[in-house]
Amino acid sequence: MGILDKAIAGSVKVIPRPVVKRISSRYIAGEDLESTLAKIRQLNEQGCAATVDVLGETSDNKREAAEKLKDYKRVLDALEERGLNSGISVKLTGLGLLFDEALCRANLEEIVAYAAEKERFVRVDMEDSPRTSATLGIVHEMYGRYGNVGAVIQAYMRRSIEDVDRLIEAGISARLCKGIYDEPRKIAYKDFDTVRQNYIFLLEEMLKGGVYVGIATHDEYLIWHALRLVHQLEVPADRYEFQMLLGVDEELRDILVESGHKVRVYVPFGKDWYEYSTRRLQENPKIARYVAEDVVRS
Ligand code: FAD
Repeated sequence: MGILDKAIAGSVKVIPRPVVKRISSRYIAGEDLESTLAKIRQLNEQGCAATVDVLGETSDNKREAAEKLKDYKRVLDALEERGLNSGISVKLTGLGLLFDEALCRANLEEIVAYAAEKERFVRVDMEDSPRTSATLGIVHEMYGRYGNVGAVIQAYMRRSIEDVDRLIEAGISARLCKGIYDEPRKIAYKDFDTVRQNYIFLLEEMLKGGVYVGIATHDEYLIWHALRLVHQLEVPADRYEFQMLLGVDEELRDILVESGHKVRVYVPFGKDWYEYSTRRLQENPKIARYVAEDVVRS
């Protein structure tokens, strides 16, 4: 990322909300469930599975966490009613992790049990580093009871290889991503190439370890390495899938689908679109630059 791009990406937070909304509509299925279901139907028709994220990342009190629990049950009901190929992705801070870990665990258990009845999979997203141990601990516990739940590993985290070893031992599926939070160097690798190398290292461990892997990246260099490993290790097609965010590099997504690989798209929806969108814009200076030009023009 060049200096100018960094400056533009850094200034995303001052972009007017209506402009963020217009540009980011490609990253979000909609504010309501109905438009989200239509988007998932479309993705399914294009050969992709989905995973639904209800936006609004942290809950500050019991009432908000209970709302989130209700939202996810509503999503699970709708996915079943419409016969859509989709699971759900859940953030534990949305279920109360920041103020009451026991309540959070109970909320997640209710969702996982409800999803299990409907034979749906629950992916527990990974958040910032103070949440890593609690999140993985809860996933291990839920997996032991229900089985239809999986973790996320961030390749920038120095601890990830140990977390991967524990997941392999327990047979828990994991999504592997680079990681999106701004972590201190003591905890996370900061260098782009080191994160990439660690991604490849962790992926190889996971594929050799036999757990189901969600290969979540739009980085074609990593996708090439993933395809290489799948080929060299003769990994069966039912042991991995590629995962991408809604609205990001659809051309690469189509290439993977057309080559016969399973692809799942992360589909966020809801009224709290602003925080998610600014993160996506900060990640992609090309789009942030476009937004900046748009602001200058309007
Ligand atoms: P990058 O090097 O960032 O991107 C590679 C290329 O993809 C770029 O050159 C660019 O052209 C394109 N690209 C990337 N982002 C965008 C964008 N926003 N718009 C347009 N083009 C783009 N992180 C977590 O910390 N916890 C999670 O639980 C988590 N879940 C995720 C689930 C999925 C399905 C995916 C795909 C990502 C998830 N992430 C999560 C985010 C992840 O950690 C990265 O921040 C993000 O995927 C960008 O990294 P990358 O591997 O795509 O590589």
